[in-house]
Amino acid sequence: MNQNKILWKYQEIESVLEKEEKVLKEVIKGKEISQRIKAHKLFKNDFEAKKSMLKEKENRLRKLEHERTEIEYEVEIIKNQLYGGKINDLKQLENLMKKEEQKKEELNEIDSRTLEMMEEMDTVKEDIKTIGCKGRKLGKIIKNMLEERKKTIEKIEKYIIEKKREKQDIANKITKENIEKYLDIKSRKKDPVAMLKGDICMGCHMDLPVMTLTRLKEKEIIVCNNCGRILYPCEDE
Ligand SMILES: [Zn+2]
Repeated sequence: MNQNKILWKYQEIESVLEKEEKVLKEVIKGKEISQRIKAHKLFKNDFEAKKSMLKEKENRLRKLEHERTEIEYEVEIIKNQLYGGKINDLKQLENLMKKEEQKKEELNEIDSRTLEMMEEMDTVKEDIKTIGCKGRKLGKIIKNMLEERKKTIEKIEKYIIEKKREKQDIANKITKENIEKYLDIKSRKKDPVAMLKGDICMGCHMDLPVMTLTRLKEKEIIVCNNCGRILYPCEDE
């Protein structure tokens, strides 16, 4: 095999490797996964916030129950005074009845607050259920994505190892002088080997002088007069 053909193959495999390594980097970075993990964290925070909200409401409900029991006890005392037969005058009776009325109003107030609190708690419970469900679903998606990513990484890594081995095999067939020339051009230009189609260099799309084309038949490594790339004559011609 001619040196220019080997260099062409070397370049092809290098470009495959560069592409695969770029893909691997993106997969490892996992932009989409990290976005989902962030979203999952938000769900978790929201979930915790709602849970502590529910706890707070439960405490307030207990407090209301406690208050109610106390007021009921006070009402009981008032009733005992009212119907215990120990009232001497009308004013005392009036006062006690007023007090009883007041306490009953307080009880009504507590009952309506209790009802409100219970409704609020139901809403929070519903929210917790919804957020929890969404969070679990997202968690499952993330888990699958992570597994998928792991598999993809392994696959690409394996492919890269294979290609590197192939690259090494090809590299062994290139003379030291030619690989140095290749690397030198590569340091200045992307794709140091250009295909030659007819008399046109596909690296810069310029016509080549007849002399260069003639020399190419005698020598394996000829560079383009214009862009300086190593020329590889297309074999279909
Ligand atoms: Zn050129």
